[in-house]
Amino acid sequence: MSLRIVVCVKYVPDATGDRHFAEDLTVDRDDVDGLLSELDEYAVEQALQIADEADDAEITVLTVGPEDAKDALRKALSMGADKAVHVEDDDLHGTDALGTSLVLAKALEHVGYDLVISGMASTDGGMGVVPAMLAERLGVPQVTLLSEVAVADGKVTGRRDGDAASEQLEASLPAVVSVTDQSGEARYPSFKGIMAAKKKPVESLDLSDLGLEADEVGLDGAWSKVDEATERPARTAGTIVKDEGEGGKQLAEFLAGQKFI
Ligand SMILES: Cc1cc2nc3c(=O)[nH]c(=O)nc-3n(C[C@H](O)[C@H](O)[C@H](O)COP(=O)(O)OP(=O)(O)OC[C@H]3O[C@@H](n4cnc5c(N)ncnc54)[C@H](O)[C@@H]3O)c2cc1C
Repeated sequence: MSLRIVVCVKYVPDATGDRHFAEDLTVDRDDVDGLLSELDEYAVEQALQIADEADDAEITVLTVGPEDAKDALRKALSMGADKAVHVEDDDLHGTDALGTSLVLAKALEHVGYDLVISGMASTDGGMGVVPAMLAERLGVPQVTLLSEVAVADGKVTGRRDGDAASEQLEASLPAVVSVTDQSGEARYPSFKGIMAAKKKPVESLDLSDLGLEADEVGLDGAWSKVDEATERPARTAGTIVKDEGEGGKQLAEFLAGQKFI
């Protein structure tokens, strides 16, 4: 039996871009470039390593996002994933984490899965809650924040590193796992991989394909929304201490002034 691995990847605004809120207080994605969330590259990498170890495995990358989110899927396909699924619908605009987990759960039931792998958090919303919400909706176990993961004999096992201790965890498949940025360097797509990705299938789905109504997602369906957003004050240049013999004293006075010491 082929091991069906599905990796949830998010398309996020480039953090180096000038990110700001749109009139409806969602993140304005129009004039900001987007990319595959860096933390999800680790999830794709772990899926590729598990597939390398397995007798027979297939990797599907799944995203819920606007049209440009296809770029995130292409990047994951060029790393080595086999196929992709893109859930795209205008009514998804402003969907909160609960709504995103609902759409992902429906898409996973449509695609079929044994192991769902996600990143530890997205690099824009950064809540780190979708994997747990997903596991709850799918009624399967979750093993989160793994720095090491493996699959054998119908089980997923892994190591989670905490401040005080490391835990060895396991769960029976089907299951949802999330991996950290300590789980191993993500590979760069090769030129061959980039060319092959252009031919790999991308299935597009909308809400009706998943049996979902517009009022279950988007700003209308959101359980939490942004009421107000105020731009953070621009960062000041900071204090520059030019050491002409009194540098140490000036630094100590500055640190004391800031109550750092
Ligand atoms: C600045 C900002 C603040 C926000 N605040 C809130 C809030 O307070 N409450 C709220 O409910 N929503 C909030 N949202 C919306 C929320 O980001 C989205 O609903 C998002 O899809 C899920 O939350 P997350 O990005 O924090 O995901 P996380 O829970 O951090 O994501 C964890 C993992 O889930 C998977 N994943 C997440 N989103 C997707 C996706 N669209 N497609 C495929 N896989 C995905 C990825 O593997 C990712 O690594 C916020 C968004 C932004 C940009």
